[in-house]
Amino acid sequence: MARLVLKFGGTSVANMDRIRNVAQHVRREVEAGHEVAVVVSAMSGKTNELVAWCKDASILYDMKEYDAVVASGELVTAGLLAIALQNIGIPARSWQGWQLPVTTDDAHGSARILGIDGSKLIEGFEKRKEVAVMAGFQGIHPESGRVTTLGRGGSDTSAVALAAAIKADRCDIYTDVDGVYTTDPRIVKQARRMDRVAFEEMLEMASLGAKVLQVRSVELAMVHKVKTFVRSSFDDPADPKPGTLICDEEDIVEQQVVTGIAYSKDEAQITLRRVADKPGVAAAIFVPLADANINVDMIIQVVSDDAKTTDLTFTVPAAEYERAKAILEAAKAEIGYGDLHGATDVVKVSAIGIGMRSHAGVAARAFKALAEKGVNIRAITTSEIKFSVLIDAEYTELAVRTLHTLYGLDKT
Ligand code: ADP
Ligand code: ASP
Ligand code: MG
Repeated sequence: MARLVLKFGGTSVANMDRIRNVAQHVRREVEAGHEVAVVVSAMSGKTNELVAWCKDASILYDMKEYDAVVASGELVTAGLLAIALQNIGIPARSWQGWQLPVTTDDAHGSARILGIDGSKLIEGFEKRKEVAVMAGFQGIHPESGRVTTLGRGGSDTSAVALAAAIKADRCDIYTDVDGVYTTDPRIVKQARRMDRVAFEEMLEMASLGAKVLQVRSVELAMVHKVKTFVRSSFDDPADPKPGTLICDEEDIVEQQVVTGIAYSKDEAQITLRRVADKPGVAAAIFVPLADANINVDMIIQVVSDDAKTTDLTFTVPAAEYERAKAILEAAKAEIGYGDLHGATDVVKVSAIGIGMRSHAGVAARAFKALAEKGVNIRAITTSEIKFSVLIDAEYTELAVRTLHTLYGLDKT
């Protein structure tokens, strides 16, 4: 007997038929003699709808109330799955975040889990042979008693955190693809499914845009050594495939230089023209942004035509673009720059691979290949196991496909 956490994302619980299908996956594990805790997302599209309603209610909505609204999507699917399980003769009980509780900090909208009390679930396993169905994406801030949510895609994190808390033998993340691919299989038909991917690479892929797992879930899996698989709820419930295991680097036999390509549309570019070229200017620009909790990612500085000033280009999350612009415009006199240009129709394309640590010139090959395809690079960043280029959004697919082929990742 093993203890399992199974997580089902939005498309896996999109309607009653899909929920009944989930119940069949759960049934298989229960009949194999396992203790099963399930974590569910809201029905696909539901969270977007709830977010849109908040925006409709007020442009400057209160984040505590945003959480109260958006956490509701998962409550529905948790209850429905419990009913669907009971309907096929499997004892089941749903659990909302506050009922366990799943405690979090008070960063409403992107709260971090502090702990999960799994005792009620374990009591259900032991005394009543009951499947636990936990609503993902949510928790409670204990001091204020208010409901929180974990940021978009947060049910993955709920699942891995629960697996760590109840010492599950495995955490299966069921989604609409049958594993982690070398790049988003929805945009590159030649993408290959990987049997295994290293934690470090998965972390980079997730933070650089591969939304198959929320970044925080990968961090937790790595720290707590949760054996985590990504697999498909669309497989036959009687005979599913194992999917992709997220594991230690040492457990991967065949290592490639580049293992994955990711892209993120969540970027905006800001260029400050004719910035005074003197000490303290970078601080004058970036300290106020940091104080406002705006993450600056890529930065490039070039000497202006007049050689006395420089142009500074950097990226911020698209969601922070307007706020960043307002801060920089307010500080214009203090910073001392000519003008500000911004663009939101940009995309960051990244290549990830542990093998980059020991191979030189990996990024240089990409610059050449992109140039040959006529893709202009606006900014570049590199680090130990990845590099990223900022390009015009219209070239996203072309750039992703070019790099995927360049590094030998295409399916043969
Ligand atoms: P869920 O609702 O189950 O949480 P998500 O939509 O959050 O599902 O994540 C699954 C999606 O992630 C896939 O449909 C796929 O388009 C996308 N994706 C992006 N990059 C990758 C990748 N490298 N491997 C697999 N899927 C990826
Ligand atoms: N329903 C939430 C979202 O759409 C959480 C999740 O699906 O993981 O972001
Ligand atoms: Mg998701």
